[in-house]
Amino acid sequence: MSAARPARGARYDCIVVGGGHNGLTCAAYLARAGRSVLVLEAADRVGGAAVTREFAPGFRVSACAHLLHLMPGKLIAELNLSAHGLKLAAAQLPTTALSADDAHLPLGPEGAAVLAAQSAHDAAAYPAYGARLARLAARLRPILGATPPRLGTAGWRDRAALLGLGLRLRALGRRDMRELLRIGPMCVQDLLDEHFESPLLKGALGFDAVLGTNYGPRSPGTVFTLLYRLAAAGEEGGGLAQPLGGLGALSEALAGAARAAGAQVRTGAVVKRILVRDDRAAGVVLASGEELAAGAVVSSADPKTTFLGLLGAEHLDAGFVRRIVHLRARGLAAKLHLALDAAPRFAGLDPAALRGRLLWAPSPEHIERAFNHAKYGEFSASPILEITVPTVSDPALAPAGAHVLSVVAQYAPFALAGGWAEGRRRFTELLIDTLTALAPGLRAQVRHAELLSPEDLEREFRITGGHWHHAELALDQFFMLRPVPGVAQYRAPVGGLYLCGAGCHPGGGVMGLAGRNAAREVVREAA
Ligand SMILES: Cc1cc2nc3c(=O)[nH]c(=O)nc-3n(C[C@H](O)[C@H](O)[C@H](O)COP(=O)(O)OP(=O)(O)OC[C@H]3O[C@@H](n4cnc5c(N)ncnc54)[C@H](O)[C@@H]3O)c2cc1C
Repeated sequence: MSAARPARGARYDCIVVGGGHNGLTCAAYLARAGRSVLVLEAADRVGGAAVTREFAPGFRVSACAHLLHLMPGKLIAELNLSAHGLKLAAAQLPTTALSADDAHLPLGPEGAAVLAAQSAHDAAAYPAYGARLARLAARLRPILGATPPRLGTAGWRDRAALLGLGLRLRALGRRDMRELLRIGPMCVQDLLDEHFESPLLKGALGFDAVLGTNYGPRSPGTVFTLLYRLAAAGEEGGGLAQPLGGLGALSEALAGAARAAGAQVRTGAVVKRILVRDDRAAGVVLASGEELAAGAVVSSADPKTTFLGLLGAEHLDAGFVRRIVHLRARGLAAKLHLALDAAPRFAGLDPAALRGRLLWAPSPEHIERAFNHAKYGEFSASPILEITVPTVSDPALAPAGAHVLSVVAQYAPFALAGGWAEGRRRFTELLIDTLTALAPGLRAQVRHAELLSPEDLEREFRITGGHWHHAELALDQFFMLRPVPGVAQYRAPVGGLYLCGAGCHPGGGVMGLAGRNAAREVVREAA
């Protein structure tokens, strides 16, 4: 393989479709392994859903993902992202559960006294609950950075991986192993009801189990999604961080690392088709008509886009196509950006909490009721919110004295009854009303509001369904089954074609592991 950079029109070892954080991570690792690599990104900037952009004159925001907490420190160190410009504006951000009666609850050890005042029972139960989930999550963690094994093969690698998985679970010990088997498929509300009585605490803990998914706290399998998030959050226990300059700065650093390793990154390059010659992926055709040849095509676009849009069903067998068609990928999270004249004042909230994450999910019942509406294509009159004020730690994102509010609002159905053209204004108003009830005076501070519905996320970020994970993160679309059997080891059924985005193992979130794992498989196959 040549590490030289081919000129335009020449043949690359690898073409990476999409310059989101996973595509860039994959490109960086491939280039470091000596491959000539070209990244083709449709947008006029890199980052995909990890991007910073202006949404009102002088106001910038992380336009989709807004918190960094899942990317392993090892990956950041391996790619030397700090040398490529990554700096944190804030780390170890606190989380506070907002309450309608101003009895807000900081989560974690810092909130122990407040929790004890609200419920002595919950204060006593919380540490053991947290420790057990942390133990279980720690056992799951190595799975995230591994290629899922194939089932029923004689390959030593598959057998070794299955054996390793079994041993890891065995090492949990009898009690924790039994507990993992018992609680994994459960709904998170049942688990929380077993341990706690405070609706506020249960709402906040349940929130993380359903954020970015198509579930409510009473959906089976939501303990699994919670454990998965905890596993991805890493050794440090999920220290939430905010890159200086927003999530786009992380993507720029990844692009810098890829370029430094020899990869080329082109923006404004829309891939229209993946070329197939002699039953192998042989390159791509851009919307401009330009053809680019490659030994391997690695797509970070979502699975439906990759297989049905770019490759074409004619290159796949009918069973595989059916699985991709039925892959569940309908987003339920929207994003609200507010340009504010001044810092918001949440009633009864310690201003220091504004640098962290605020949750509005006052009970599991509140969350479930909000989810109920989404099942019928409606948004709830009482949505649940993850609120950040990034300008507290990074004032340069707004004009002097002004602030940005960045809010994930769930549940906002992709296929809203009546459509988003009509629903956008109503939902925006509802969100501002909900926020103003918590932060009196906020409505009067709003200079500009931008709502990104799942439909907008699909359009702006080219993610089918605008889904957080590119494909629902569920037990039946997980690990060896992600996104569907036949491509769970990153290799597509068509030779020379790979997946490296959130749609494959280990899923979405700004983690970089799908990109890293896929690069390892590309290199392994060619070796
Ligand atoms: C509202 C919302 C909030 C979120 N908040 C967080 C958060 O706070 N923290 C967190 O960790 N995660 C968050 N996530 C999840 C996270 O943003 C995504 O899972 C992650 O960014 C996906 O990264 P990716 O590189 O796999 O894919 P993407 O970021 O989707 O990148 C894929 C890239 O491929 C490009 N592309 C697609 N088709 C083509 C084509 N034909 N030609 C060329 N390029 C193409 C796209 O333009 C895009 O740049 C959030 C998601 C949503 C929807």
